[in-house]
Amino acid sequence: MATTIRCPNCGKLNRVRPSREGIPRCANCHEPLPWIVDADESSFDAESAASVPVLIDFWAPWCGPCRMVSPLVERLGHDRAGHLKVVKLNTDAAPQIAARYSVQGIPLLVLVRDGQELDRLVGAVPEPQLLQWLDQQLAAGPTPAP
Ligand SMILES: [Zn+2]
Repeated sequence: MATTIRCPNCGKLNRVRPSREGIPRCANCHEPLPWIVDADESSFDAESAASVPVLIDFWAPWCGPCRMVSPLVERLGHDRAGHLKVVKLNTDAAPQIAARYSVQGIPLLVLVRDGQELDRLVGAVPEPQLLQWLDQQLAAGPTPAP
């Protein structure tokens, strides 16, 4: 399943497929694209495997606090294009994956690198706290090869 991502640099619409290797770049100007995708039960496994750390945003339409967290996460995906992938998952539409990740409450952010969960952050947190958590987690692990 491909996701259409607009290049913030030149405006071109790019069709991006999940990949375990490399990062998506704009076909026109070759800038790294903000890698933000909506996953469902069938695409989740492919989308959550990437060469860069993956931040999974577990949300649901009825969840008010999720509407505070999701824009922050999307902005992170834009700010860190080429260094972070954001996968958004509607837990109502993907109960089996929510169960696999033992999702007790949402909003829930799970940070995955190389298929391993690094940490998770439950609840709506202010942006500075979210950034601090993310940077701490990414700094703690082994540095990925360039
Ligand atoms: Zn471009």
